[in-house]
Amino acid sequence: MSRLFDPLRKAREVESIVTRQGEEGQERKYYRFRGGSWYGGIATADCVGCCLRCVFCWSYYPREHPDTCGTFYSPSEVARRLLAIAKRRGYNKVRISGSEPTIGKEHLLKVFEYVSVEKVLFILETNGILIGYDRDYARALSRFDNIHVRVSIKGCTPDEFSRLTGAVPEAFELQLKALENLLDAGVSCHPAVMLSFSDRDSIAYLVQKLSEIEPTLVNNIEEEYVILYPHVARRLKQAGIWPRTYCSLR
Ligand code: SF4
Repeated sequence: MSRLFDPLRKAREVESIVTRQGEEGQERKYYRFRGGSWYGGIATADCVGCCLRCVFCWSYYPREHPDTCGTFYSPSEVARRLLAIAKRRGYNKVRISGSEPTIGKEHLLKVFEYVSVEKVLFILETNGILIGYDRDYARALSRFDNIHVRVSIKGCTPDEFSRLTGAVPEAFELQLKALENLLDAGVSCHPAVMLSFSDRDSIAYLVQKLSEIEPTLVNNIEEEYVILYPHVARRLKQAGIWPRTYCSLR
């Protein structure tokens, strides 16, 4: 088995590859801009680079090849592209997906500034590691009233998290801390939980942890299950990890 890594250190390493200073401030790498039917229709910018290594990740290639994948975009260009897609398709929601959007804090906050001039909801999908580590990140997000944060928790216990992501088990707590920091800062948020690999006991553990932060979080858990794209199934088999429950493509 490969050595477990510190996701905060990984985030710094990845940030040095997928961001750079441009004329307008921090630029970030993206590999695609698209519309899509998630959330009833949402404009999506797919960024490059993540601080976790989830075995079930559908966005494996951009995650593993941050140096060769994608192009640098300024915050205003990202916002312009997202809003143009939303307008063209009649969406009222935008998001950044594909990898971990919170890497490159300065860039992300600037994107929010540009997007917030329009009446669209920004759904921030994050693994929560950086917001859990940096309380000021949550405070900075609270400046915007058109943001909802979906904290995607990887597994239900520290050991499960570590087995699924390759990160040290202690980092599991950062995902929970992200929810706590966001609630303290008054930012709209909910937990999404990858349950494909969890048994009843581990789910009960997570429910208890969430209820200790805020009881209403438990009612708002979004259940996530692995979608078995062929490349995802292949990697799960290679890792010797198979989901108890999953969504097949047919
Ligand atoms: S946090 Fe998301 S983008 Fe990062 S490795 Fe896990 S599934 Fe992939």
